[in-house]
Amino acid sequence: MNPSRPLGVLAALPEELGDLLATMRAESGVATRTLGQRDYHAGTVHGVPCVVTLARIGKVAAAATASALMHAFDVEALVFTGVAGGVGPAVRVGDIVVGETLLQHDMNAEPLFPRFEIPLLGRARFDADRALSAALADACERFVAEEGAALAGRFQTGHLPRVHRGLVISGDQFVASAQAVGALRAALPDALAVEMEGAAIAQLCHEYGVPCAVVRTISDTADEHASTSFTSFLTDIAGTYSTGVLRRFLAAYAAAAR
Ligand code: SAH
Repeated sequence: MNPSRPLGVLAALPEELGDLLATMRAESGVATRTLGQRDYHAGTVHGVPCVVTLARIGKVAAAATASALMHAFDVEALVFTGVAGGVGPAVRVGDIVVGETLLQHDMNAEPLFPRFEIPLLGRARFDADRALSAALADACERFVAEEGAALAGRFQTGHLPRVHRGLVISGDQFVASAQAVGALRAALPDALAVEMEGAAIAQLCHEYGVPCAVVRTISDTADEHASTSFTSFLTDIAGTYSTGVLRRFLAAYAAAAR
């Protein structure tokens, strides 16, 4: 960590930030700057200088916010936290997915470019930063080991949460039918989770050489029950997961810099 450059931490929705802003307020105070209808909150959280903001929903919103974090705040790296629909057969509600690779599932410029490829970049898949993702996965594993049994009881998911690492796919679509999630599974058999922002951020981070990592708690399984499951999960659970994972991740990030 370079203490002169902050870490950018973002989510789509306020619930997904957990207690991050409250912790910043208590630890260092918060300096807020508004740009493009978004509030960027600067301060220190668990010993790490951070700029925390809400990207809002979708790929354009996420890319614009990531760009502002890079250019107006000179962030050293970006971490995205939030919820997602489970796509992989072993991925269940209450599990956590760390996105090692990200892809935009609604990009299709055929026949000019292969399906999913981002025109002119020559690739469909963007890798998250290895070291950051490993540190994030480690924070998730410790969170699940320390709080998983209590969470499974409290939220009645019926199983201990698992941490998965692999492909996360993003598109400007809330996936909410067996047919839609089935089509994604058929086209991208290794996809673990679907959401609406991560791969846009990964593309920008690739283009600008800024390391990024994405962590998603599974709120639904992208089928007919997705919207009810998503809504109840977001209110009750998303914040608890983000709080538990980010606290461990940021404390380790600060310790590694000392
Ligand atoms: N109804 C919500 C909007 C939800 S959009 C509102 O009014 O605020 C869903 C958000 O959660 C997106 O940010 C996306 O990244 C994530 N997400 C969770 N489940 C998803 C799914 N099944 N498909 C796509 N995105 C999903």
